[in-house]
Amino acid sequence: MLQELIDLSNRLGESGEFVILGEGNTSANLDADRFYVKVSGSQLQGADEGSFVLVDRGKILAILEKEGVSDEEVGQGLLDAVCDDSGRKPSVETMFHAYLLSLPDVNFVAHTHPTTVNTILCSTRAEELVRSRLFPDEIVCCGPEPVFIHYEDPGHLLARKIVEGCEAYMKKWGSAPRSILMQNHGLIVLGKTSGQVQAATRMWHKTAQILVGAALLGGANYLSDENVRRISSRQDEKEREKVIFGDK
Ligand SMILES: [Zn+2]
Repeated sequence: MLQELIDLSNRLGESGEFVILGEGNTSANLDADRFYVKVSGSQLQGADEGSFVLVDRGKILAILEKEGVSDEEVGQGLLDAVCDDSGRKPSVETMFHAYLLSLPDVNFVAHTHPTTVNTILCSTRAEELVRSRLFPDEIVCCGPEPVFIHYEDPGHLLARKIVEGCEAYMKKWGSAPRSILMQNHGLIVLGKTSGQVQAATRMWHKTAQILVGAALLGGANYLSDENVRRISSRQDEKEREKVIFGDK
């Protein structure tokens, strides 16, 4: 599991299009109680075993449930949740990883700041532009709809807003979301396999380029809600998805 997470992180980090410097973070479930998450300040590019720390999910979720916690309390809580004595500090974004990794059929989470996706998310038209889907493979890889999160302070407040957004999504669609777009911040994708997560990140990068191009060419021609629902429920697309993502 850890090696798969290291490989995923390196692949996301290597192009420089999804993250630069210490941006972004990734995580993976080890078992029902513990997960690996990126150490604060480490880089996805060139990540190795020392770039990740094993944490206790229940302890992280307990911080998330508290209201009005200070930065110091969050920092101490994150350190207290570490399962080894390495002294390494988990990323401040570990709280949303803990929640997302507790959702059904989710084993991997990748958060990046892709230049293309952020071009849209940092624009005044962000929410309106990502309101619907443009082409079938986007739906297969990224889901029928992203969870859209208005700008929030990274850390505890952002994680709580992500919980709210995902709960609303699951009520509507009956399954966990595949992607989350955070205004003026970046992208989170979640999936059962590392292949799914890598594919969804790359597909958002492509979608964002198409969306900007279509907007410049007179406006995006979105698929109808009916077509989006049809693609996301087609059995042949689900079989194709298994082949693409290597889901056994
Ligand atoms: Zn971030």
